[in-house]
Amino acid sequence: MIYKLSVKPRVVVKFGGSSVRDSFGKALELVEKLHDGNEVVVVLSALKGVTDSLLHLANSKDERIIQKIAEKHERVIEKLGLDSEYVENLLLELRQILRKEKSFPNKKAFIDHVLSFGERLSVELFTEALRNQGIESIPVDAFHVIRTDNTFGNANIDFRETAKRVKALEDLLKEGKVPVVTGFLGGYKSFRTTLGRGGSDYTASILGSLLNAKTVLIMSDVEGIYTADPRVVRKAKLIPFVSYEEALIASKLGMKALHERTIKPVKDRTPIIIGRTSDWKLGTLVSDIKSGVPIITYKIIDENFARIGVVGIDKVGGKGLQ
Ligand code: ASP
Ligand code: MG
Repeated sequence: MIYKLSVKPRVVVKFGGSSVRDSFGKALELVEKLHDGNEVVVVLSALKGVTDSLLHLANSKDERIIQKIAEKHERVIEKLGLDSEYVENLLLELRQILRKEKSFPNKKAFIDHVLSFGERLSVELFTEALRNQGIESIPVDAFHVIRTDNTFGNANIDFRETAKRVKALEDLLKEGKVPVVTGFLGGYKSFRTTLGRGGSDYTASILGSLLNAKTVLIMSDVEGIYTADPRVVRKAKLIPFVSYEEALIASKLGMKALHERTIKPVKDRTPIIIGRTSDWKLGTLVSDIKSGVPIITYKIIDENFARIGVVGIDKVGGKGLQ
């Protein structure tokens, strides 16, 4: 008997919210390139700003927000010449859910369900756009794959159950298909959960680890990890190599480039590459190679306090902090 061995390397690529809106074309092109020679899993965030709008909607039930969300998606649909049917159906479902808050065990469970629509919407658009490009892609609702506990808003992964369900993705990959998975989302029994804000990075690393991917690509609107937050410190420098340990600590201390739970599943096993979708600049490799420079982080504690951290302080040497 002849066994067909998969010789294609496996790659998980995650696109952040701005990649799906402003750089949609670039993201699609990158998937096409990667698919030529690799097995590819796409993990997607909601369109930029949509999760915030949904959060607002869950609290206010203000119908105008749904209209705003609809328009944001319509613009992408028009730009890419897609079919808007999925969006209409999902928004209809969203309207129904808003009337059923009482059927949820608590407010957080209700909010998680409302938030799930962001990624479910973007995944439908992305899948269809890939198909139009001739790539066989399948939308995957992470509710069915990433199983969690009932810590709504910041759920913990049931790795055993998730590992079993990830097999379905593997089957798709072996058929040459590209699964497009909703980031940030999980499932507990019949309820929807979320993994914490910015949690799509975590979805990508969980899948990268369970699928034995060669690498996990985290694509967004920043090129990589910087010596400080580049949006705050203009002179911040891009760091080409960052160790797992450094990235783990920096993200826990508030570094925005990676969700704080991203590193753990891939640590010492699967390198993470961080890059920018708009020009495919891949700025940072997270692996066992140390950065050699300190990373300054900050985490807002409340309106009066932020905690400043320095990772790799031994590298500051005798000068200390000034
Ligand atoms: N859409 C979610 C958020 O805005 C998750 C993510 O983007 O990673 O937090
Ligand atoms: Mg992020």
